Amino acid sequence: MNENQLRVVITGVAGKMGMETAKAVIKEAPEIQLVGAVDPRKAGMDLGELIGVKCDLKISDDLSSVLSSSSADVLVDFTNPQAVLHNAKTALEYGVAPVIGTTGLDSVGIAELEKLAARSGKAVLIVPNFAIGAVLMMDFARRAAQYFKDVEIIELHHNQKIDAPSGTALKTAQGIQEVRGSFKQGHPDEYEKITGARGGDWEGIRIHSVRLPGLIAHQEVIFGGAGQTLTIRHDSLHRESFMPGVILAIRKVLGLKGVVIGLENIMD
Ligand code: NAP
Repeated sequence: MNENQLRVVITGVAGKMGMETAKAVIKEAPEIQLVGAVDPRKAGMDLGELIGVKCDLKISDDLSSVLSSSSADVLVDFTNPQAVLHNAKTALEYGVAPVIGTTGLDSVGIAELEKLAARSGKAVLIVPNFAIGAVLMMDFARRAAQYFKDVEIIELHHNQKIDAPSGTALKTAQGIQEVRGSFKQGHPDEYEKITGARGGDWEGIRIHSVRLPGLIAHQEVIFGGAGQTLTIRHDSLHRESFMPGVILAIRKVLGLKGVVIGLENIMD
């Protein structure tokens, strides 16, 4: 082991994103060492066997014992909305900086992490979308909102995603709302014949969530104006699309302070 290597633990390592992250760290990032793998789903199993890449780690179901024995610097969490807050708090208690890819963390949880991050001196980096193309899509949408006030968002994901709408859709809506303000779109007397037909309403922006097998992560932001529409679309076609962002986040989190939300804050 090289002393300058960053030491990383992954929670949710047996899930789709966790496995992809473990492979990327081992194969693509020699300056990062994977020192812990946590997931109750495959506890006791050899990680190398699971991901098909040579590696000398057993999967554990006990994050605290992995953190106390591994001298980790960074935790990468790809679990679920129920587990993520506890995992991030545990990491901070051990002086480990969490990089959170799991979506669904609410504002109360983020406020708790802000307090703990200040106390521990370690930053928390929350990234609703690690795909660099998705970050650009949010930036373009924010710019378009200066000129188009009416907008709807359609986010499409695989059918195993449990939270809706996606963190990216909410963050996109927030960026648009900061530019154009909140107001009610559409006909003032519109009504739904089926509940939810007009999607969720966030500050007047309608967000529609599609869940289908075969999809990975996709989003369209559709702006409408007099006689024209503008559609900005991003597609993650494989989970590899997230990995350059995950590696960048691992490299940057130790240089941050407090809770930082979004990959755009660490991109040059
Ligand atoms: P997944 O395949 O269901 O994997 C989640 C894994 O976490 C499962 O193996 C699960 O085990 C495990 N887990 C549950 N509780 C745990 C705990 N306390 N400690 C350790 N592991 C635990 O889900 P996924 O598709 O990889 O997605 C994971 C999260 O990442 C979701 O919130 C998703 O929305 C998000 N995501 C983010 C991005 C991004 O760019 N930020 C991209 C894609 C996905 P069990 O099955 O036994 O519960």
